[in-house]
Amino acid sequence: MKPIEIEEIDKLPGIRIKENDTFCFRCHPEVECFNRCCRNLNLFLYPYDVLRLKQSLEMTSDAFLDKYVDIVMRPANHFPDVLLRMADNSEKTCPFLAEAGCAVYHHRPDTCRTFPIEQGIMYDASRKKDLPVFFYRPPDFCLGQHEPEEWTVPDWIEDQEAEQYHTMTIRWSEIKRLFQNDPWGFEGPAGPKAKMAFMATYNIDQFRGFVFQSSFLKRYQIKSTLRQKIKTDDMTLLKFGFEWVKVFVWGIKCKSIKVRS
Ligand code: SF4
Ligand code: SF4
Repeated sequence: MKPIEIEEIDKLPGIRIKENDTFCFRCHPEVECFNRCCRNLNLFLYPYDVLRLKQSLEMTSDAFLDKYVDIVMRPANHFPDVLLRMADNSEKTCPFLAEAGCAVYHHRPDTCRTFPIEQGIMYDASRKKDLPVFFYRPPDFCLGQHEPEEWTVPDWIEDQEAEQYHTMTIRWSEIKRLFQNDPWGFEGPAGPKAKMAFMATYNIDQFRGFVFQSSFLKRYQIKSTLRQKIKTDDMTLLKFGFEWVKVFVWGIKCKSIKVRS
């Protein structure tokens, strides 16, 4: 997911695929390049990716982040990026690459799921809305692009069960856009406020502990049904975390969380 300026859209590499355009692709174990794409990657993980991976590996989000990711702050950014840490071997393989293919296939990250399509997010200021844009961008070595099977983007998204991922990526991109301006002041992006925002979006098991074991519920009013749900439901908790960050960092009002006076 990449924020794209509307005037830059035609300068980007790859072929832009609009809703009814088609592209050719098929990946299967007999293809000569099988698994070549799962190495030496800058694979960005979004909050929903982390949620799904930690669930599939039956780990806490804290343990997952510790074991599998690098957290990097790019210059001029105000919120860190989370990158899947490649294995420490000569080929820098993905830690989830097994001989038979992806060992976390049913929970693979959004980027892997959508490949060879890349999703970007374009902010339409007139409609005040984030809109997804898609590019067909297989690397030269990917032989899947020479297969005859044709897809439209909606068909591909359905086939790869990527809808939920894309919905959550768009929600996340709305927050990332807010981080384009420095919200931290003198504390900076390594300060306590920034750490809380990171916890609420990426480290949701720790966030759950914070909600229920600190004075959080004395400071924020949350409907009892929602309160019950976030005790056990990770997805609801992640959406709640997104809303809370908006309240906590920018004071943006929302229906589900009220600051107690
Ligand atoms: S490089 Fe392309 S065709 Fe080869 S395994 Fe990866 S996605 Fe499939
Ligand atoms: S998560 Fe799976 S599909 Fe994605 S790079 Fe790793 S092995 Fe490949």
